[in-house]
Amino acid sequence: ETFKVELDTPIYKGSVSCNTGLFINGKFVDAVEGGTIDVINPSTGKLLTKVAAATSKDVDIAVEAAKKAYKTSWGLKVSGAQRGELLMKLATLLEANIDEFAALECLNVGKPWSESKGFDMKLTLQTLKYYAGWADKVHGKTIETNEQKLAYTRHEPYGVVGQIVPWNYPLTMVSWKIGPALATGNVVVLKPSEITPLTALKLAGLVQEAGFPPGVVNIIPGYGATAGAAMSLHPDIRKIAFTGSTLTGRKIQEASAKSNLKVVTLELGGKSPNIIFNDADLEQAVKWTAIGIFSNSGQVCTAGSRIFVQEGIYDAFIKAFSEAAAGVNTKTGDPFAEGTIHGPVVSQTQFDRVMGYIDAAKAEGATTFIGGERHSLTEGFFVKPTIFTDCTPDMKIVQEEVFGPVAAVVKFKTEDEVIEMANDSNYGLACAVFTENVSRAIRVSNALEAGMAWVNCNVTTEYNVPFGGYKQSGYGRELGAYAIDTYTQVKAVHINV
Ligand code: NAD
Repeated sequence: ETFKVELDTPIYKGSVSCNTGLFINGKFVDAVEGGTIDVINPSTGKLLTKVAAATSKDVDIAVEAAKKAYKTSWGLKVSGAQRGELLMKLATLLEANIDEFAALECLNVGKPWSESKGFDMKLTLQTLKYYAGWADKVHGKTIETNEQKLAYTRHEPYGVVGQIVPWNYPLTMVSWKIGPALATGNVVVLKPSEITPLTALKLAGLVQEAGFPPGVVNIIPGYGATAGAAMSLHPDIRKIAFTGSTLTGRKIQEASAKSNLKVVTLELGGKSPNIIFNDADLEQAVKWTAIGIFSNSGQVCTAGSRIFVQEGIYDAFIKAFSEAAAGVNTKTGDPFAEGTIHGPVVSQTQFDRVMGYIDAAKAEGATTFIGGERHSLTEGFFVKPTIFTDCTPDMKIVQEEVFGPVAAVVKFKTEDEVIEMANDSNYGLACAVFTENVSRAIRVSNALEAGMAWVNCNVTTEYNVPFGGYKQSGYGRELGAYAIDTYTQVKAVHINV
């Protein structure tokens, strides 16, 4: 079955469509048990379509198809150059349909067109092309031994890789996952988030068109507790790459321990500190801090949600930052309207969660400097850009990931004190430092416990630079050459000469 709508908006005119079945063994099929998932448009709260919901039975079928494909038509059976060519073909097909993909993402996630087209789709394409280029450049080393032997290493694929992705960057996350996995010769069973399966399904159509052998790529929407759990426990899945919450990451690691010790890489949540020193360029610091917490409605794992401001610049910063938030608020609304930069959060559940954190912050005594309520739009899940000031490090709003457009501001006095406060977190995904003093920038970014540090910028993500966290933000790296390592295992070959 197909989902299809005609759009006539100021920004996009034309049809948008995708298949709504499970993509297994090169074909779209219904779920064995016939279950479906309601897919909602977060800008209106209304049903967009239903898609098939995979259960453990479908996971088994997809894994069987993948195993067969690995043995007969992928893995060590095809050259890197052939894999690269197919990946490049997929990228080219995506590029030819990029506006329709961008529109579908706007419908399903509520992202403003500028973000969907300007960020998500751009990064998705770059990522697929980049890994297409890698496919014939993966090789091992030769090693001199003392024993008259020749030793060399091979970087081999794992085989069947399970990939589980979240709803905040649905298609981009698919590219980060399948790009390096396919380039290195793995076959994949990928589960999109049940909230946002549409662009992944649309891409499955292009996988078919590009001519990948059946079973190399399987895309199966389904609920986490059923399809996701079945994947994590599956004895024939050799690796799981997961992006999502820390809570779910923990379950996946447990499932791996209970089943076959499959390799797990985890990209989890964050509570990234943004530190603004007295000597920061105020205008730049405000601009990047606002981007850090309000883009994608704050539903960004690297979102700069803890904002530490030094006392000398505090008043000026808060004034300018709240003006920026007010500006974002005036550009809130329909993702397809000209000039929209702020959309809804993704679901009713997410809306309730964000409002719950807002209420908790008020109850704990934080000052609502701006926002702190539902946007006046009558339908959809819109939250006003919100800034809490007078926050203290122990507050929930400072410790826990909100995943919404909500900033918690804490005042600080000294560099040592702020490093201590910033590192007082279970998370360690990213951080940002604003200062015009290069020594301080290096000192502080080195001292912060995070997998990514931005200096005088924020949340910029490049396809060729590693992405991932410290502490309970996970382990393993995506993007760049680092991802090639996480999708290969090393074999050492010893030859008696
Ligand atoms: P989530 O953990 O609820 O869901 C993520 C995915 O896991 C979904 O596909 C879901 O169906 C699946 N899932 C849920 N329960 C499962 C289970 N028991 N077993 C297997 N799979 C299961 O997270 P979410 O709400 O979709 O996404 C938001 C979270 O993702 C945030 O915490 C955010 O920080 C994190 N995130 C991290 C990164 C990163 O790269 N570090 C990027 C984006 C989002």
